[in-house]
Amino acid sequence: MSTPQRLVILGSTGSIGTSTLDVVARHPERFEVYGLSAFQRVDELAAQCRQFRPRVAVVPNDERAAALRALLAGCGTEVRVGAQALCELVAEPEVDSVMAAIVGAAGLPSCMAAARAGKRLLLANKEALVVGGALFMQAVEQGGATLLPIDSEHSAIFQCLPEDRRVWGERIDHLLLTASGGPFRQRDPATLHDVTPEQAVAHPNWVMGRKISVDSATMMNKALEVIEARWLFGLEPEQVRVVIHPQSIIHSMVVCRDASVLAQLGTPDMRVPIAYGLAFPERIPCGASRLDFLKLSALTFEEPDLKLFPGLALAWDTLRGPLGSTAVMNAANEEAVAAFLDRRIGFTAIHAVNAGTVERLAATLGPVSSIDDLLALDERARATARTLIGALAA
Ligand code: NAD
Ligand code: MG
Repeated sequence: MSTPQRLVILGSTGSIGTSTLDVVARHPERFEVYGLSAFQRVDELAAQCRQFRPRVAVVPNDERAAALRALLAGCGTEVRVGAQALCELVAEPEVDSVMAAIVGAAGLPSCMAAARAGKRLLLANKEALVVGGALFMQAVEQGGATLLPIDSEHSAIFQCLPEDRRVWGERIDHLLLTASGGPFRQRDPATLHDVTPEQAVAHPNWVMGRKISVDSATMMNKALEVIEARWLFGLEPEQVRVVIHPQSIIHSMVVCRDASVLAQLGTPDMRVPIAYGLAFPERIPCGASRLDFLKLSALTFEEPDLKLFPGLALAWDTLRGPLGSTAVMNAANEEAVAAFLDRRIGFTAIHAVNAGTVERLAATLGPVSSIDDLLALDERARATARTLIGALAA
């Protein structure tokens, strides 16, 4: 092995961030942690810095920087502050790879900076691509970056496809994204309004951050993933389809032009797609247990019920809508999920906010030609969503 891969992990204290460090710790000769970042949990970030000795750690404000510096005295890690510091860090020439594991559109500027700087960009932060869309993909291409999907479904598809992306269009008929259906797959839609945040974040197969767990319960996570797949694999919206597969063993499928179906399987453990992104095109042990086919019960498939999961349809609606519609939907959903987790609105109100915001802004989107336009639109959509949330909460 040559020199170790120098890695920055944005959002290192989150679910994906800690799983990434778990894989990295198994291969000290392969990876060097160059930078880490966290938003809130300074104690945990300090513990990560003591273990992995990064050159740089980034926190959002001076108060947390002071707390982190106090905890890290003598550790040799430089503490930097603010969102701009994330963008500068990922573009440094010493950095080879960036794990984008911040949650939400807040991660878009740092993803764009890594793309423009031509890094290996390991993308867990699906909201960044949902908001950035074509402009994100353009930055990847122009910057000469290597975009490696970390979302398990997209990693599955990526693992099924040839490395030469120029042939993807002629090989793929359509994609089947699998979805577990989350905790409410078998609920009567009429009983969903009194679901609590605790019930919504209790996912049957995966342990994840709170926002994505709520998104899985509404299936907005799958809506975001449909949009993510459209951009990652350069397909038309109708070439991305969704099937419910409650066991989460098949992580997604590619249906080829000749009707052959390629699938990637494994136990549900995010360390597998993370390790694939880290080592691509090689394969490295990651700590996940192997699938035991003899112990597997049936693998089953169902069509998603749009009465239970009305938000899923927003994926195709917004992809076909005016430019910027997917960014509006994402912003509304981030606000709605935060309001639901704060117990300001009920579970079914999440969709009301999302659909209402998309509808209200549809006629007034205006031209979108830069990331700044998209970030301004994100702000406008959040303001509209907050108005709707206020009305629903009253
Ligand atoms: P999480 O909430 O566990 O962690 C989020 C991380 O981002 C934390 O380190 C937090 O400090 C940081 N962060 C939050 N807000 C920030 C902000 N405004 N600025 C800078 N940093 C901020 O989330 P997660 O479950 O690890 O998910 C991270 C991303 O990966 C999400 O986009 C999610 O959709 C995606 N993803 C997660 C999983 C999973 O299994 N957890 C699977 C697929 C995709
Ligand atoms: Mg996923």
